Amino acid sequence: MENSSETTLPNPTPGRERNQKTRSPRILQTTLITAMVVATLFVTFSPNSFSAGFKEPFSAILTSEPNIAVLSGTARPAIRIGIVSGHLGNDSGAVCENGTTEADVNLKIATLVQQKLNAIGYETDLLKEKDPRLTGYRAAVLLSIHNDSCDYINDQATGFKVAAAMSTHDTNLANRLEGCLKDRYQRTTGLSLHDSVTNDMTFYHAFSEIDPSTPAAIIETGFLKLDYDILTTKTDLIAQGVANGLICFVRNENIAPTSTP
Ligand SMILES: [Zn+2]
Repeated sequence: MENSSETTLPNPTPGRERNQKTRSPRILQTTLITAMVVATLFVTFSPNSFSAGFKEPFSAILTSEPNIAVLSGTARPAIRIGIVSGHLGNDSGAVCENGTTEADVNLKIATLVQQKLNAIGYETDLLKEKDPRLTGYRAAVLLSIHNDSCDYINDQATGFKVAAAMSTHDTNLANRLEGCLKDRYQRTTGLSLHDSVTNDMTFYHAFSEIDPSTPAAIIETGFLKLDYDILTTKTDLIAQGVANGLICFVRNENIAPTSTP
């Protein structure tokens, strides 16, 4: 709101010097008229003359108190986060001897991640592997959750993998997303990074379907063979690790510098 006592003052006659004797009474007159108009407005529109419905906004203007609802963040548009539950609606993914499928484990983790993000105010979309919504998908970030083979490969087939989409407009954001996921997931779960990223991850199909402005990544939260226990009995911790990585990214949190070997 502008200050009415300033905006209602007429501009001095342009391009012409005026003698002080004729100017002063004119200014005084204008000031008096302005003061009277302002005073009249103030009396006429005093909060008491308003119906109850108008009192609040008017008094808010008068006191020039900050609008708490706006400043507290409740009025901000929510940040949207997309979560793909790997293989959901498409196939089972890896299958263990006991019948546990990768798709089941992925869905448990993805659902918990969604709940955790919703609980702190983020808007989320839980997406299927080939979800039609992935075409041109726009969000603050998209993450696809998968798990590795349930076959015994070797004793080193343990830990997690992360790959960010480098097809995005902003590769700095992609690198930051990868850094946040690696750092927070490792710290939260204690699982180590299995630094081998496959073409299935780097060229993950959704990366080329979503809007290029959406930073995206894929995480293999563990190997279903050697990490079976933590994945299936500490699923909440696994989900917390994923959620912490996403929160780190959307909140632009610091990532500890990776120690060089
Ligand atoms: Zn998978």
